[in-house]
Amino acid sequence: MNAVDYLRISVTDRCNLTCFYCNPGRFLPRKELLSFEEIGDLARAAVDAGIRRVRLTGGEPTMRRDLPRLVELLSSIEGIGDLSLTTNGIRFSAMAEDLRAHGLSRVNISLDTLSPEKFARITGVDMHHRVIGAIDAALAAGLDPVKVNVVAIKGYNDDEVVPLALYASRRGAHLRFIEMMPFQCNRALQKGLFLSAAEILARLEERFVLEECTTNGPGPARYYRMDGGGGTIGLISPFSRPFCTSCNRLRLTSTGILRNCLFADSGVDLRAALRGGASRAECADLIRSSIRAKGKGHRLVHGEPSCAIYSPSQIGG
Ligand code: SAM
Repeated sequence: MNAVDYLRISVTDRCNLTCFYCNPGRFLPRKELLSFEEIGDLARAAVDAGIRRVRLTGGEPTMRRDLPRLVELLSSIEGIGDLSLTTNGIRFSAMAEDLRAHGLSRVNISLDTLSPEKFARITGVDMHHRVIGAIDAALAAGLDPVKVNVVAIKGYNDDEVVPLALYASRRGAHLRFIEMMPFQCNRALQKGLFLSAAEILARLEERFVLEECTTNGPGPARYYRMDGGGGTIGLISPFSRPFCTSCNRLRLTSTGILRNCLFADSGVDLRAALRGGASRAECADLIRSSIRAKGKGHRLVHGEPSCAIYSPSQIGG
């Protein structure tokens, strides 16, 4: 088991897109969300429990007003050596410089297709150009690395595996294909749309000579370098190559529930602890016990959600 040093913090469950494989449908009242100060308190306790890297996610994190202030607060916490963001890019361009200036190190931007028309079908909005602009803005702001997250969807982007690889490589961005995971919100669709990492790899190998990177890092992706290309291609495959034994992460939901697995049914209520007066040391102990309770494998079964979670945006995908 790897040391658990990575915390993904969902700063809101809200999103400005309605991707059909993720759409939560309804949002929590704002008062349910952790305040920035509460997020800061829990991040300090998490550092005491061994966390060294933090990613802000959601929902869509840029929906949270004054996100640069949260970035500043977290980046000033001693012990957090790496602060990153996952965003859909719709609102990102205008804040890229500001986020960088306040301490953001790097960013992952989600883009499933190079086609504006398909983008609108997947996300429900006609704003493909905003995401393309966000990737350019992230690169121009000096965020490094810039990763492009692609959820692999049969019938939508299986014909775009090579074009997406070329697009990312030409810009010096890194591409990551993610196998679609089953949640309650997509269970009816998931089986027919599932595109495996092996199929993606086969398509890439038809066009490129790929070299597997020897240092794959502690995360879930296997990385490859393509001949003549700048960036890397990562394949995240919770089914064909589960990464539970090397999972180094915890998730904090926007309502302060600490989850030690994306597919766990429950977690530790840190908001209740904090609002009930728990000290930093007591919160750190709760986080340590969640780390100790991490399972050796999730119960992910192809096509079947193995937990009650409706959408990843509820827990911070
Ligand atoms: N709103 C941000 C975004 O779009 O990047 C952050 C939250 S989103 C839940 C985080 C990542 O999870 C995105 O790259 C998204 O495409 C991915 N995702 C959402 N639903 C998924 C699913 N069912 N299977 C695999 N990845 C999924």
